[in-house]
Amino acid sequence: MVQGGESSVLVLEYKAKGNKAQYQAIEEAIKTTQFVRNKCIRYWMDASREDNINNAALSRYSTVLRADFPFVAALNSMAVQAAAERAWFAISRFYDNCKKNKPGKKGYPRFQHDNRSVEYKTSGWSLHPTKRRITFTDKKGIGKLKLMGKWDIHTYPVKSVKRVRIVRRADGFYVQFCVDVECKEQVSSTGQEIGLDFGLEHFYTDSNGYHEPNPCFLRKAEKQIKHAQRRIYKKEKGKNGRKKARNRYARKHLKISRKRTEHAKSRARHVMRSNDLCVYENLQVKNMVRNHHLAKSINDAGWRQFRSYLEYFAQKYGKVALAVEPHYTSQQCPQCGTMVKKSLSTRTHTCKCGCVLQRDHAAAINILRKGKEKIATSGHGGSKVSKRKPRNARGVETSVQSGAILIE
Ligand SMILES: [Zn+2]
Repeated sequence: MVQGGESSVLVLEYKAKGNKAQYQAIEEAIKTTQFVRNKCIRYWMDASREDNINNAALSRYSTVLRADFPFVAALNSMAVQAAAERAWFAISRFYDNCKKNKPGKKGYPRFQHDNRSVEYKTSGWSLHPTKRRITFTDKKGIGKLKLMGKWDIHTYPVKSVKRVRIVRRADGFYVQFCVDVECKEQVSSTGQEIGLDFGLEHFYTDSNGYHEPNPCFLRKAEKQIKHAQRRIYKKEKGKNGRKKARNRYARKHLKISRKRTEHAKSRARHVMRSNDLCVYENLQVKNMVRNHHLAKSINDAGWRQFRSYLEYFAQKYGKVALAVEPHYTSQQCPQCGTMVKKSLSTRTHTCKCGCVLQRDHAAAINILRKGKEKIATSGHGGSKVSKRKPRNARGVETSVQSGAILIE
């Protein structure tokens, strides 16, 4: 559950404009990042258990790399450290998986060959007073880049910028600012509560019976992606034409994912502004059946994003967003509680008690009820509530992670 009042990470992204030499310099910095990361992984692999390689050891090793390789020394020292941290991230994730005895592959750290970004921390760059330019000041020679985009980074103090990342995408380079913000924005309480059911027919159906339609770009996207995909295979392997077709395909994907993000964000903002409590199904990616139906898989991604934005805005507005297990929510009668078994194709819930509702509407009501029950039970006694985590007014455990979700 996510609830307001904590600080959070906001990511502002701009397209970067520079010249060919500058783009080349960015590529160099990205390559160096990958080099440092991989060297750290190698260092860890070669070390013995007693060496007890940890984050600090990798950080020390990164200074050795700076001394040994001039092209590493040319990259800002904190950016080199950030690259070493990436290695530590992969290693510690592997350790965690082993510790938790996660079934299947444990994710043994691999060497990376397709790195697409370089990350600076609080040094190695400066923002221009015109508010539309950033200069990278280390010896990689990236220099001054123009920033194109609608977010205004300068509504935030420069010292709240914790990281600056340059990312390569199919259509060019982007600069991301990770800003630490005190997110709370006072939005008045509305006294409204809502349950959401995610479906294929509609993007979601709420407990008031409203159906949010699927965004129209979804169906269009399916066609376009399939078309672009076919064109890749029509081109001869290894030829330039194929490379171009591949790039076109990647751009199409990018365009759709941006539209999806905008859609998820605007819908989630609306929901959390007009309700004090929002309950939805806990759709776990792992539990979801892998499917080859493109429209559905695009939709799945949309829901996941929608959900993280719900949590993000709940935090920002000081509201409550809560996920519940989806079991039986589509079978139970919201009026009398009787189980009314129905197949996926049955679109109406009809109960002996006289309750007749559209299927998803009934599910959304059940989801809201489940959420309120969850809050009521954890509010009394609170034995399950960890003392270290922040709580909301009802004493329910909360987690503050919405910012993290938004980064990738
Ligand atoms: Zn009933």
